[in-house]
Amino acid sequence: MGSTRTVNIGGIEMGGGAPISIQSMCNADPYDHDAVTAQVRQLHAAGCDIVRISVPRLDAVPAAIRVREMTAGIPLVADVHFDHRVAIAMCGHIDKIRINPGTLKGKAALRETAAALLDTGTPVRIGINSGSLPEDLAAATGDPATVLVEAATRAVSDMRELGVEDIVVSVKSSSPTVTMLACELAASRLDVPLHVGVTESGTPASGAVRSAAVIAALLSRGIGDTIRVSLAGSPLPEVKVARQILESIGLRKPGIQVRACPTCGRACLDTESIAAGIEAALEGLDASREPPELVIAVMGCVVNGPGEAAGADAAIVGTPGGAALFIKGRVAMKGSVDQALQQLLCWIHRPQD
Ligand code: SF4
Repeated sequence: MGSTRTVNIGGIEMGGGAPISIQSMCNADPYDHDAVTAQVRQLHAAGCDIVRISVPRLDAVPAAIRVREMTAGIPLVADVHFDHRVAIAMCGHIDKIRINPGTLKGKAALRETAAALLDTGTPVRIGINSGSLPEDLAAATGDPATVLVEAATRAVSDMRELGVEDIVVSVKSSSPTVTMLACELAASRLDVPLHVGVTESGTPASGAVRSAAVIAALLSRGIGDTIRVSLAGSPLPEVKVARQILESIGLRKPGIQVRACPTCGRACLDTESIAAGIEAALEGLDASREPPELVIAVMGCVVNGPGEAAGADAAIVGTPGGAALFIKGRVAMKGSVDQALQQLLCWIHRPQD
C-alpha cells in the first residue's frame, strides 16, 4: 500500500509510517465534565493514545471545553454529528474533530466547518459508517464496501477543495468482511491516514474476536494507521484488546504476557483464575508507557510445566502438593498456590538493577 500523509493529533503522529496509535471513546454523560474527565484519564492511563468524547449539542460545548482544560496533554477528539456549529465551536479547543458527512447536512455546513478547521489548524476525521451514509449513497444498491469508499472519497475531495489537508478517514461497517474490503479499497485510493476498526462489533468477547480478525489482517498488510476496537459497555476493555492486537502481530513491545495451559484431567490447579489474578494484579504495570517485557506461565501440572517454565521468566506449575514457582527456569520455592502467587508478585515488583 502507498504511504500516506502524516497528521499530528495533539502530539501523536498518524500516518506516514508513524507507530499505530490506539483510540477509544468515552461513554460518560457529556454534560458531566467531572465524569468525562475521569474516564479520559482512565483510558489514557490504560494505554489509549487518543481519546474521543461526544459533544452532542451546542449546550454541551462548555462541558467539553472544561474536559479539555482538565486533561491537558492527553490527545482529545470531539465527536460531532448533526449540528456543524458544534464542530465550529470546538475548533481550537481540541486536537481533532470527527465528523460524519452522513449526519452533517448541506454544502454550507461543510464550508463553514472547513473554514473553522483551517482558521484553527484543527485536523478532521471523516468517519464514514454504513449506518449513517449520505442519503443518495444510503439508497445505492451497489457493493457496500465500494459505497462506503465512495462516500469517503467524495468527502475528502470536498474538504480538499475547501483547503483542508489534515484529514484522517475511516470506513466502518458492523460487518467484518465489508469493513475489511472497504479499508483495502480506501487504502488503495486515498493518501490520507486510515483509522481502522469494526463498528458496533459486539460484546467484549465476540467483538474482540471480530475486531482482532479484521484489524490484525489489515495491519499485517500495511493497511491502517490508527485503530479502535469498538465493544459494547465500558471502553476500558477496548484499550486492552487493542494493545493485545498490536503486541500479537509485533507492532508494539509485548509488555507482560501471561500464558496459561488449558488444563486437563491432570491439572493440579485452576490456571484460568490464577492467570486472571496475575493479569489483574499487573494491569497498571502492563498499561504503563514502558512496561517490563516479561513472560509468565501458569501450568496445571508437571507434564509441560517445567518445559514451559524454562522458556518463561517465571512460572507457577501445579504439583500434587500445591505449586512450584520457577524463576528463570529454576525452582524458586514450593508450597501452596497462594504462597507461589505472592512470591511471584514480589519478584515482579522487586527493585530493578
Ligand atoms: S500442562 Fe498438565 S494440566 Fe496443563 S494441559 Fe498439559 S497435561 Fe494438562
